[in-house]
Amino acid sequence: MKELLNSEIARFIGTHPGNRLPDSDTPYLTDPLVGFASASDLIFQDYRRIIGPFHLLPSDLLGGAATVISWVLPISSAVRESNRTQRDLPSREWALTRSNGEAVNGDLRRHLVAWLVAQGHDALAPQYSPLWQEFSDTPVGIASSWSERHAAYAAGLGTFSLSDGFITSRGIAHRCGSVITTLSLPPTPRTSVSHTANCLHYHNGSCGACIARCPVGAISRDGHNKYRCRELVYGTAPEKLSALYGVPQTGCGLCQTNVPCEAVVPSPCRVAA
Ligand code: SF4
Ligand code: SF4
Repeated sequence: MKELLNSEIARFIGTHPGNRLPDSDTPYLTDPLVGFASASDLIFQDYRRIIGPFHLLPSDLLGGAATVISWVLPISSAVRESNRTQRDLPSREWALTRSNGEAVNGDLRRHLVAWLVAQGHDALAPQYSPLWQEFSDTPVGIASSWSERHAAYAAGLGTFSLSDGFITSRGIAHRCGSVITTLSLPPTPRTSVSHTANCLHYHNGSCGACIARCPVGAISRDGHNKYRCRELVYGTAPEKLSALYGVPQTGCGLCQTNVPCEAVVPSPCRVAA
């Protein structure tokens, strides 16, 4: 069943007509990585302590929840390359990926739910649950009642970064998502030595390339200032670029491109793992 799910997700992303830059065959998002976590994994209890008591358990979202299916959709090399030379604001290709590529990711959430239901299992996309909420002021800053990146960590797909991103075997530049289902599947093992093992800063105190890439100083050796980042990502960038590029959201992603973790786990971290 895992193989069937993997190939259905890959087929959906590979053939989605919206997964293309305008007038081009270049995709926004490429070959998915897919992982599975048990809905009863105690890590989801830990998230209530680490993120906040508002973070939901899989069983809060879906009665009979058995598995969290998580995926990472790596951003294509053409889109990443376009953002590497940017200094203040994201490239057109990156902005289109943030809006149009994320719409494809949303379609994948809905498709997977329908696909699982058609196979006789109950399923739900946390992102579209009425219980999904965002909180602007928590002890960990801006947070939501379901974190796609934490679901991806639970499903063994990577680890967190100094910039608050999520570094997978295909790097930090991606979109991710999840669906909870009553279908029981064996979990993907978490093999990293720590929850930050793929980031050079946490590995050996080196790098920090993302610090210099951020145009608003939102990243330091102390971590990521979500509020400062948000001002650019949801304020300045769309105000300046939305009309020009014809998309509502532009993202930013400067800290995810032209950095050692852009498309791989940096090799010293790989060796350690
Ligand atoms: S650029 Fe370097 S310090 Fe920043 S997240 Fe990537 S590996 Fe970590
Ligand atoms: S997304 Fe942009 S504003 Fe936010 S931390 Fe990264 S570089 Fe800075």
